[in-house]
Formats: sequence, C-alpha cells, structure tokens
Amino acid sequence: MKADFNNSHVAVIGAGPAGLTAAFELAKNGLTLIVLEASPFIGGISRTHVWNDNHIDIGGHRFLTKSAVVKHLWEEMMDEPMLRVPRLSRIYYKGKFFQYPLQIGNTLSNLGVIESVRMLLSYLYSSIAPIKPEDSFEDWVRNRFGDRLYRTFFKTYTEKVWGIPCTEIRADWAAQRIHGLSFVSAVMNALRDSGRVKSLSMTFDYPRLGPGMLWESAAGKIEKMGGTVIREASVKRLHHFEGRVTALDFEHEGKTHTIHPNQVISSMPISTLTKILDPAPPEIVINSASGLKYRDFLIVALACSKPDVFPDNWIYIHSPDVRVGRIQNFRNWSPHMVAPDNETTLGMEYFCSRGDDLWTRSDTDLITLAKKEISSLGLIAESALGEGFVIRELNAYPVYDAEYKAHVDTLRAYYTTFANLQTVGRNGMHRYNNQDHSMLAGHHAALRLLGRPELDPWEVNTERSYYEEQILNSDERHKATAILAAEITMPHEKS
Ligand SMILES: Cc1cc2nc3c(=O)[nH]c(=O)nc-3n(C[C@H](O)[C@H](O)[C@H](O)COP(=O)(O)OP(=O)(O)OC[C@H]3O[C@@H](n4cnc5c(N)ncnc54)[C@H](O)[C@@H]3O)c2cc1C
Repeated sequence: MKADFNNSHVAVIGAGPAGLTAAFELAKNGLTLIVLEASPFIGGISRTHVWNDNHIDIGGHRFLTKSAVVKHLWEEMMDEPMLRVPRLSRIYYKGKFFQYPLQIGNTLSNLGVIESVRMLLSYLYSSIAPIKPEDSFEDWVRNRFGDRLYRTFFKTYTEKVWGIPCTEIRADWAAQRIHGLSFVSAVMNALRDSGRVKSLSMTFDYPRLGPGMLWESAAGKIEKMGGTVIREASVKRLHHFEGRVTALDFEHEGKTHTIHPNQVISSMPISTLTKILDPAPPEIVINSASGLKYRDFLIVALACSKPDVFPDNWIYIHSPDVRVGRIQNFRNWSPHMVAPDNETTLGMEYFCSRGDDLWTRSDTDLITLAKKEISSLGLIAESALGEGFVIRELNAYPVYDAEYKAHVDTLRAYYTTFANLQTVGRNGMHRYNNQDHSMLAGHHAALRLLGRPELDPWEVNTERSYYEEQILNSDERHKATAILAAEITMPHEKS
C-alpha cells in the first residue's frame, strides 16, 4: 500500500526530546501530525544504543528538572516508574578521586597541606586583583577561584570538552553553566550540613533501560494516539512564501516526498534548516547560520569482566596525558543496561570535532586507544576488557563562542517572522540545554498551536519562571511539585 504522508496538520522535524514532546502534546489534543526523523533511531542525543544486549546511553543522561510540567510529562510518557539512582561523579586526578562538588576534607587530604595553602593564596590574590574586564571563561573562573584551583579543576577538562583554549570561551557561558558558585560558596557549601538539599540532589531519576526507553515509549504513545512517526526520513527542503511554509520535502526509502502541513515545528539544527529554505533567506541570515559552531562527541563502549571498577555513575578525567574526558560505568546507572555475559559496560567519552584526528580514527584504533588509556590511568587492567563498540555523535554541543549570540539573535528575529514555523530544542535554538529545556520548548510550541499564542519557545531557557507561571496558570497547577535543589555542576553538564 502506498503511504500517504500528506494528511497531517503539523509536521514535526526530529524525534528527539523537543520534537517528541511537541508531538506528544499535539497528539493528546487530537491534532493530526507527522514526525520526520532523519536517523534510524528515536530519542536524538537522548537515545539509547543497544549493542550486544548492552544499553549505551550517549553521554549519560541524568533526569533532573525543576519543572513540574516536565516531571508530569515523564510520568505520562513512561509506562513504568523510573529508577531512583544514587548520584556519584567524581574527578579523577593524579590517581586520586576528588568529590564533586568539592568537599573540603576530601580535597585537602588529596591535595596535601602545601598545595592547599598555595590554592588559598592564589584565591586571595585573585580577590584582591581580579582580571578586568572579565571576558573569557578563564577570567571568570580565575576571578572566583584563583589561578591554581582553575588550573587543577577547570582548565584541562574544559579544554578537552571544547577543543579551544579557555581564553577563547566566553565568560557568559561560565556564568550560565556554573552560576552561583565561587570559592567562598564552594567552601561554605562544603562546610554547611545541608542535609535537606543534599538528599534532594544526591539522587536522580533514570529509566531502567536508559533514556531511549522513555523516548521509544513516547513515540509509541504518539502513534497510538493517531500520530505518524517515520524514521530515516530526512527533511531536505522547506518551501515558503510570504512568511508561511508552503511545502516540505523529505527523503525516505530512496524517494523524495513532498507534504503540505499547515504548521511546522523544527528541532533540526537551525544552521541546517536555514540552508534548506527555498527561496534562500537574506544573506545576513545565511551568514549567521554558517557562523554557528558545534562540538562533536564519540563514545567507545567497552565490555568489562570486573563489576566494581569504580562506584561512580561517571568520572571526570582531568589528566592532560590522556584524551578521554569522562568514563561512564553503566552498571551504576542501571544494572539492567548490562548484558548478562558482562559484569559492566564502560563508556569512554571523547570530545572531538568532525574531521579531527579522533573523529577520523578507525573504530579498531579507537577501541585500542580507549583500552590503553583506561589501563594507563590505573583504573583497570586491559585483560579485564572485552569487545568494544564506537558511537559517533555529530553536533553534540552547540558552541558558545564570541559570535554565537549575535548569530542566534539574527536567526531568532528571522524565524519569528514566519506564521507557521517554530524552531525548538538544543540545536533548533542553538542552546546548550538539557532534555528538560528541550522538552519545555517543544511543549511551548505545541501549546502555541493549541490556542496559547502568547507562549514563545525562545523564552523557555531564559525565563523559566515566566514559563512555569504561564503553564501552571492552567489546570496543571495542582501538579506542581517544584524541586529546588541547589545545583553545582561541572561546567559541561548542568542537570
Ligand atoms: C554528552 C552529553 C551528555 C548529556 N547529559 C545530559 C543529562 O545528564 N541530562 C539531560 O537532561 N540532558 C543531557 N544532555 C542533553 C540532551 O542530550 C539534549 O538536551 C537533548 O537530547 C536535546 O533534545 P532535542 O530534541 O532538542 O535535540 P536532539 O536530541 O539533537 O534531537 C534532534 C533530532 O532531530 C533529528 N534531525 C536532525 N536533522 C534532521 C532532518 N534534516 N530531518 C529530520 N530529522 C532531523 C536528529 O536526528 C535528532 O534525532 C547531554 C548531552 C550530551 C551531548
């Protein structure tokens, strides 16, 4: 039977958290919709890859949110409750484990008295003579922690993640990701016996089989409610006229299909979207799209015959001697993710850029490198490691460089001139956000189509309280269970 893709009111581009949340809300409200997903997978960056019965989370996704709307959606989307997982992720540096957030006793005993005094003096110096103006990530962190602490706990790791010197990363990125944290607040937090806050932030939710379980379940429910979800359907062109999308072309099973949805919600990278508009937008818009940068990511999964390599969900590797940035221990996320013939699966995470020496290495070489590095760190002998598997993820991180904000402002201004096209999500809005913010943006876009024109997905990240207030004014108010866990996180993950 010839598939008819053309009777959907709304087309949603991308089956990641943003796209699926929009589709879920629309389907619940009876709208006809089609979700077009370029890859064979559901869940975007938040999918779970299954390899030899091992479930590999691409990055390790903690489910933490302050949003009652998101919590409620998780419950609606999943058929079983999530696991409550103890949270432990330490820094592994010079053969020692440092608690993160830093804890006074553990940090002092690991560093020793002399190095601790040096760090204190370096902090005092930065307090007296701060760098002005505070332009870069390096300036921002040195001003709050001192040069020595910055070099030990921030510099190497951040440079591994972004692949550029900390002097080239914007200070506002640091302010967004590690806001509210300073030397004094870190010490105060470490000293304070804040049992209540601690108990809230020491666990997180997690689907039994990884984050993909949630998104597969959501996609299944969308289909049950009458929506259509198509994998390997790559959107190639968006035709528009007088501020409206008139048609959308996508490739599926070797053919090009054209559909005419009334509304489009797009979570594909806004840079790519801009390049497939027909007619092409003004040059300034194209230049902004071309100016957006991304950091890519790959994970080498290793089967392991030893269960207790370390008790953390993951560890941060600050040593400049190895390329690996983080190491996941998937048994400590959920034992159900590990194949019966393994004791655990480890995930060696490498931050890279397409075309660089890591990205272009063969899978065999990457597996060899990962095994060598983990044993050189003294964490496990190579003999305890079995087969490996490599997953590459393009555009994993939208980069916040000196120009990104101006580019995003230009693109936002351009796209808001469309009457029937909304861009949502991490790369859809070039926002360095977690699943919950992508979900909120998708939810917002859906509600906008359902009669709440005042809601704007672009406001979600910056105006969280505004969003909650708007949504919770509706009949969902009673479901509000605000979680106010004060979070101090590593720069690259704020969950
Ligand atoms: C290493 C790492 C760790 C992370 N840890 C956490 C965490 O602990 N907690 C947390 O909440 N979040 C975490 N995140 C963030 C989380 O992965 C993202 O916020 C989330 O997946 C973004 O959802 P999205 O729908 O906006 O985008 P995506 O997940 O990128 O989904 C977009 C989808 O669009 C599809 N697409 C692209 N182009 C096209 C096209 N032309 N046609 C059709 N489809 C297309 C893509 O294939 C993709 O499936 C982490 C991310 C990384 C990289």
